[in-house]
Amino acid sequence: MQQGIKKLVIAGGGTAGWMAAAAIAKHLGKVVDITLVESDEIGIVGVGEATIPTMVFFHNLLGIKEHEFVKACQGTYKLGIKFENWRDVGEDYLHAFGVTGKDCWACGFQHFWMRGRKMGIAGDFGDYCLERKVAEANKFAHLPDNGLNYAFHIDASLYAKFLRQFAEKHGITRVEGKIESVQTRPEDGNITSLTLQSGEVLDGDFFIDCTGFRGLLIEQTLHTGYEDWSHWLPCDSALAVQTKSVSEPLPYTRSIARESGWQWRIPLQHRVGNGLVYCSKYMSDEQAKAQLLDNIEGETLTEPRQIKFRTGRRRKQWNKNCLAVGLASGFLEPLESTSIHLIQQNIVRFLRMFPAQGVSQTDINEFNKQAAFDMETIRDFIILHYKVTNRRDSDFWRYCSGMEVPASLAHRIQLFKDTGRVFREGNELFDDSWQQVMIGQGLIPNSYHPLVDTMSEAEITNFLAHVKSNVDKVVAQLPGHQDYINKMVAVS
Ligand code: FAD
Repeated sequence: MQQGIKKLVIAGGGTAGWMAAAAIAKHLGKVVDITLVESDEIGIVGVGEATIPTMVFFHNLLGIKEHEFVKACQGTYKLGIKFENWRDVGEDYLHAFGVTGKDCWACGFQHFWMRGRKMGIAGDFGDYCLERKVAEANKFAHLPDNGLNYAFHIDASLYAKFLRQFAEKHGITRVEGKIESVQTRPEDGNITSLTLQSGEVLDGDFFIDCTGFRGLLIEQTLHTGYEDWSHWLPCDSALAVQTKSVSEPLPYTRSIARESGWQWRIPLQHRVGNGLVYCSKYMSDEQAKAQLLDNIEGETLTEPRQIKFRTGRRRKQWNKNCLAVGLASGFLEPLESTSIHLIQQNIVRFLRMFPAQGVSQTDINEFNKQAAFDMETIRDFIILHYKVTNRRDSDFWRYCSGMEVPASLAHRIQLFKDTGRVFREGNELFDDSWQQVMIGQGLIPNSYHPLVDTMSEAEITNFLAHVKSNVDKVVAQLPGHQDYINKMVAVS
């Protein structure tokens, strides 16, 4: 045990730094002194603009009013991700945030759907999911009892500013400057202070490393180590460019698979975020730039910006008196928009385990165990998109479809293929998403649960028709997405 934590220093002011500052200041600002240091010269990565529904929970925790946030961040609503050309060129499906159909105690809805499919009366799997149909109709509204699962598209730079205002209001001190060196205590290797280029020294009892890919504290100082996952997720480069909007924003992200990676389109109120994630082994930077610029709509507002990365995770998210949050903690490509969620997870977990009496190795071990589970289950889900595909049209896709995947994922795929079963593990993030993506990627199980055969053909037909008509009825009543945003930003 060390001394209790009275002074907390956050290194870095990107999305991770400001989310950490906002949440810790809001909840513990009265008992802990918090300083955040960021460098205007270095700036932020600024590309994390698609989110998932857990962000609603995070904002509730902070007491952020949604209309203020949507207005300040030029936000739009997001109900899922449309995966185009992933199963095969020219085919698509929408992975929506909601639940598809109705489960029963013995089996998931996909078993009923498979029987309907065999009978030739079932529609597309997504026809039975409210969020998917609302997204495709370009509509949105808040429904009672959290009836619609949603997230946001946001301008990352505006979000960092928005959180900065929030955190400063809750008493944090912001210092602008470049960290030049990090001091540690010789006896135990704990970090004691950061020295800035200006000569200013920031002492602390605990440090949160939000310095992005460089991991100035967690890696460059503490040499924590990195577990490399690039053999499963071989993309290592991205190019990002912003364009003017040419149409009303869609309430979903588009992910369009290309020969050696995939392209994103994220619609905001005032512009569109575009990018190409690619694997430099199969595509040169010049080819990638040409491919991205050939496949965007609207005038470009920025020059294409390149970002290099390596998928994997820091071996320990928490090491000694330092916690890594955001890109400093590892990186999973943004295919399912999970990075901001992982930031939140680390912050909320840290608040739950706040070492008020001092850092203990037991706390550290528990934290790292939970964080590893979060990342590994999301990693498997992302690999699934590359592995289960009919695409064999390029070296990249031949590699991905043929690669060996983690045993945990291989088991899930086999179980689903043989039986249609999928089980949520522990507290993992994705639930219904597994069957949506497996079916969307073209994996149709060989059998379904026998309970379904106790229903007559008429009962199955009525059941599927009933679920679908309930979805269609709700969709018909909702306002357009743009109209709803207009209403939200008009709230004062
Ligand atoms: P950064 O934004 O890099 O911030 C680092 C901070 O540290 C900056 O303030 C910098 O000034 C400061 N700093 C660094 N060194 C020093 C120093 N020496 N002295 C002082 N300050 C320093 N996530 C999603 O959830 N959804 C997405 O759609 C998504 N898309 C992405 C697309 C790409 C191509 C990439 C690469 C990432 C994407 N992410 C996405 C991830 C997301 O961008 C990050 O998780 C998020 O922006 C957090 O970044 P960060 O704050 O950790 O790092």
